[in-house]
Amino acid sequence: MKLHFFGTCSGTEPMPGRHHTSFAFETKGKLYIFDAGENCSYNAHIMGVDLLSCRAVFISHSHMDHIGGLGNLFWNIRKLNVYYSRKMNDVDLYLPEPEVWEHLEEILRHTEGSFSKEWEIYPHRINDGVIFDGDITVRALHNNHLGKTDGHCLSFGFLIECEGKRVVYTGDTNGPDDFKPLMPCDILICETGHHRARDIAEAVNGMTDKIIYNHHGLAMLSDMEGELALAREVFDGEIFSANDMDTFDFQ
Ligand SMILES: [Zn+2]
Ligand SMILES: [Zn+2]
Repeated sequence: MKLHFFGTCSGTEPMPGRHHTSFAFETKGKLYIFDAGENCSYNAHIMGVDLLSCRAVFISHSHMDHIGGLGNLFWNIRKLNVYYSRKMNDVDLYLPEPEVWEHLEEILRHTEGSFSKEWEIYPHRINDGVIFDGDITVRALHNNHLGKTDGHCLSFGFLIECEGKRVVYTGDTNGPDDFKPLMPCDILICETGHHRARDIAEAVNGMTDKIIYNHHGLAMLSDMEGELALAREVFDGEIFSANDMDTFDFQ
């Protein structure tokens, strides 16, 4: 299983060399993308990741640093599909607010060729529980980053089971109590846009073997090595920090 990071910045002001949050699992020849910040499909393609193997996209919430690249992701997949004349599978799109996709799709219809294509994008509203069960399994749990609209939760974290590994992605979160119910896990992918790395590491010590920080906030961006050193003081496992265009290969 490979974990590709396309963008690792939180929704702060634009930072050199970093783009908004997006990463993907690559397993069994398929790509599963989590969040779709501004530049995700550009970086994915430049990294050599096969966007035409995309099977599903999961959006944690509708803030722009998580969906800004969603329209362009599908635009680029359609473009690559035309260029390479390869059969493309349908793509399932999971998001808290399917209305967001309705509007994006309307924009895409005006971009090129009426956005006609031989494959489909199927949007699904995310609710708590198992939302995808195939070569990977994805369980969603709402969190307290955002509230509710019309009874629907607007922000989620995920437990992803892939090749026998349990990986928790926090999404944007109000704190460890939001995502601890999804743990224990082998790998925790945790945002630092709203938290200090050390506080998270201390709270989850013993509940995960590895932490990969992403969605970096200002503390991490201004002193990443210092923040990581503080976190390692209070955590017994391995700690990594993701940068744009990093790939982690976990066997
Ligand atoms: Zn964010
Ligand atoms: Zn957010």
